[in-house]
Amino acid sequence: MGILIKNVSILTQNSRREILRDVDILTEGNRIEKIGKNVRERAEFKIDGRGKLAVPGLVNTHSHVAMTLFRGYADDMRFWEAWPERIWPKEKKLKAEHVYWGAMLGCMEMIRSGTTCFMDNYFFMEEVAKAVKEIGIRANLAYGMIDLDDAGKRKKELEIGEGFVKDFNGKADGRITCSFSPHAPYTCSRELLLKSKELAEKHDVLLQIHVSETRKEVFDSLKKFGKRPVEYLDSIGFLGRRVMAAHCVWITKREVRMLGEKGTRVSYNPVSNMMLASGGVAPIPQMLESKICITFGTDGAVSNNSLNMLETMKVGALLQKAHHWDARVLNAQQAVDFATCNGAAALCMNSGSIVEGKLSDMSLMELKSPNLLPENNLVSNLVYSSNPSNISDMIIDGKLVMENRKILTIDEEKVFENVEKVAEKLTRD
Ligand SMILES: [Zn+2]
Repeated sequence: MGILIKNVSILTQNSRREILRDVDILTEGNRIEKIGKNVRERAEFKIDGRGKLAVPGLVNTHSHVAMTLFRGYADDMRFWEAWPERIWPKEKKLKAEHVYWGAMLGCMEMIRSGTTCFMDNYFFMEEVAKAVKEIGIRANLAYGMIDLDDAGKRKKELEIGEGFVKDFNGKADGRITCSFSPHAPYTCSRELLLKSKELAEKHDVLLQIHVSETRKEVFDSLKKFGKRPVEYLDSIGFLGRRVMAAHCVWITKREVRMLGEKGTRVSYNPVSNMMLASGGVAPIPQMLESKICITFGTDGAVSNNSLNMLETMKVGALLQKAHHWDARVLNAQQAVDFATCNGAAALCMNSGSIVEGKLSDMSLMELKSPNLLPENNLVSNLVYSSNPSNISDMIIDGKLVMENRKILTIDEEKVFENVEKVAEKLTRD
């Protein structure tokens, strides 16, 4: 039983950040059982790893996967025109089948671009869970809650949010974990934020929230609470190690320190922030100084417009270099750390590196590709030169999900057909 990859190179992401050459990886169950030369155990699947690089699964810590349906639908517009005019009216019409097919398409895209796990919040999350279960990816999912200070709505939102956690946390052989996701400090009342936190503690799950994505949000927060968003969240006792704060682009050094002191994790979404012209740039050097666990997110495909974490690593590093006029800021190794071990740590998973005993979540990349030779620096090549077409195979939770660029778990043609059908109807009506 299991999977044996022979004679492969490994970007281990172990504590010494070693790169191993010409070794074997044996996966048993959902764990990496053995790494070494000449592994002789029998395995159900044998993969010839020559010329390939095993890369730990990438972890996308902020997405709205079903928004693939809106890809290209609100581009090159101001956020406060695009969302109210184009996205929100269509989101009101969303039905379960839209979310299912949109999520399936997004999961396919992530698998093809090296992502083995994603953190997501949206509506009809049971449909996202269904897609995750079927395709074989790993995910942390939450129903996105908004109450706009309305007590009746708050009660309903919390019921749906908690119901989802109760029904799906630990499902799909543990590949699905759940969290609570109050949308943002400007769309959620203090009561909703605090109740979410209380419920997250009760169920021992994480929290996801959007924080300081736009400058307008900061001004509104100062007007309403006399505090900037992170200061406000800190003052009500919301911050903590369970919290994944997405964006954090318009924050002061003081706010960075607050996030660091409380152990709050950050999801850095450089492509989305640039696409929406949010203006701010996440203060990565200050966050590193404050020992914040920084991870990468793509955000939804409506503001990216892909879910490609390889691209996110590159753009994320380049944005920091350009912004700070310093090519040393956010180097390739740090970018890989954000996307692998930090993402896994933030989501409390025993993965993020290719080490014996860890969950078997990894991709295989074909190194003999025009964009990946010569191998002067494999880490640099991964961050600055690779693209999804280099990925040939994917193992998630010890199962071979993609082999020779074919996803084995689902019928891809059926997904394409249904996505076109439901997206056409949704954007036309
Ligand atoms: Zn978002």
